[in-house]
Amino acid sequence: MLPQTAEQILTHFRPAPVTKELQQFVRKNAFSKEYLFIRTKGDTTGYCSFCQKDVPLKDHSSLQHNAETTCPRCRREVTLKHVWRGIKNIVDEAYVYHFARSIKNKQMITCQTFYVSRFLDSNPGAIRYSPSCYYVFADQGAKMMYIDPYYRQYVLTQSIYTKHPSGGFYYGWQGKLAVNMASLARAIPHTPYQYSAWENYTDMNEQILRYFALFAKHPQVEYFSKCGLSALVKSYLGKHPAARGVLNWNGKSLRKVLGFQPTKPELRHAAKANVSGGKLVHWIKLRKSGCQILLPDLDAYGWLTETLVLKSLNEFIPFDNLLAYQKRLEKRGELAAYFFRDYLDYLRECQPLGYDMSCKEILYPNKLAEKHLQNQLRITHRRDRQLDQKISERYPQLVEKYEYAAKNFCTVVPQNSGDLIAEGRDLLHCVGDYISTYANGFTDIVFLRKAAEPAASYYTMEIYDGEILQCRGFKNCSPTKEINVFLNEFKQLRLTKKRKKRAV
Ligand SMILES: [Zn+2]
Repeated sequence: MLPQTAEQILTHFRPAPVTKELQQFVRKNAFSKEYLFIRTKGDTTGYCSFCQKDVPLKDHSSLQHNAETTCPRCRREVTLKHVWRGIKNIVDEAYVYHFARSIKNKQMITCQTFYVSRFLDSNPGAIRYSPSCYYVFADQGAKMMYIDPYYRQYVLTQSIYTKHPSGGFYYGWQGKLAVNMASLARAIPHTPYQYSAWENYTDMNEQILRYFALFAKHPQVEYFSKCGLSALVKSYLGKHPAARGVLNWNGKSLRKVLGFQPTKPELRHAAKANVSGGKLVHWIKLRKSGCQILLPDLDAYGWLTETLVLKSLNEFIPFDNLLAYQKRLEKRGELAAYFFRDYLDYLRECQPLGYDMSCKEILYPNKLAEKHLQNQLRITHRRDRQLDQKISERYPQLVEKYEYAAKNFCTVVPQNSGDLIAEGRDLLHCVGDYISTYANGFTDIVFLRKAAEPAASYYTMEIYDGEILQCRGFKNCSPTKEINVFLNEFKQLRLTKKRKKRAV
């Protein structure tokens, strides 16, 4: 029977859970750094934190506090510590997962986690085990409870999850997390979990608990693991966002859980080619959406990394035509790296250009890259023509408003997009980016030039609402004093005056 209360859960665990086996595991695996402690000046022995024993010291003239050395017994690298100088700061912590068979029912597996701390109260030999979580896995399901660190009481959980020691109460915790897989291998034989394909999930470390919980609830997951879909289950257990809601665990068969019937070649490919969980999720989504193309082709032609683009492409053409087209380009040696994106861009360009989308030569062109480029040029051209039209409509008013000459300088109003592009190119600044805002009247651009060379770029102004927002020269340099004098005049006569007039 699955235990229901904290008392019932505890009956499955040893009353003294810190066994020799657990201690050995912790000594060898739970800490990443080891120390050699010298208790008092002139001691002939030191305490090694790995050996957990006093070891003889050879030459103690060289044994400085914090020196790196090796333990003469275990030959491990250790940091030397003089205990009389204080070792409070090196309190070492770990969080350990340990498995065992239930002491009450040999068919059940238990797992217990501990916070392990050493060197407490400046005592090199001190080590403390504080129990944290308790898990029981039975034939009929799984139970979990943990000890609330504030109230020191047992809390039963609704679902099975793994607690990370750094969360919540232990915020900022920096110890090591160690999972005793060997203890699991010893606990699992002769339990219902023996044939759960658990070996496929040992690389998930503590997350393997979530696999057991899934298996306890939905034993059909075993079949998944055995037909090559472990990577998919891992994505699901790892809470991969794409994997959410893709699998229907209420289904009892593979077809029901996946939402379609995978073919044998597909399952063979999933296992053999080591297809990642993320890709398998996309495979399921594509196949569920009615795509008839099988996993080996989907994988080989890069479909499993481009699902969003594919969804948009599918609005233009059916999936099988897409694959046929892709294969044709491949045969012609024209299949480029970003095929899906380029193709989608190409199709999206064809519509505004007014091409006949029912024509096969338009939908499935040879030399896609070339056609895509042509489309882009045509669209840019068209857009520039439209913008130039707008600029020429604004031009007469702008000339009347801004044209001005005094002393050695004059202003010139740009007449078309080409003027702005040339200005940006000659002065190495970014006025070329302003073509559309200028054309649409969101801002005004006026060139400042030497009266002697009115055709040569010199400075560029952006004017908006009677204010000079910026005035930049070569490589964005600021105006000189002389130019500022001119600008002030220009402002007075061309910007301020008119506004006053309008106000009257
Ligand atoms: Zn040692």
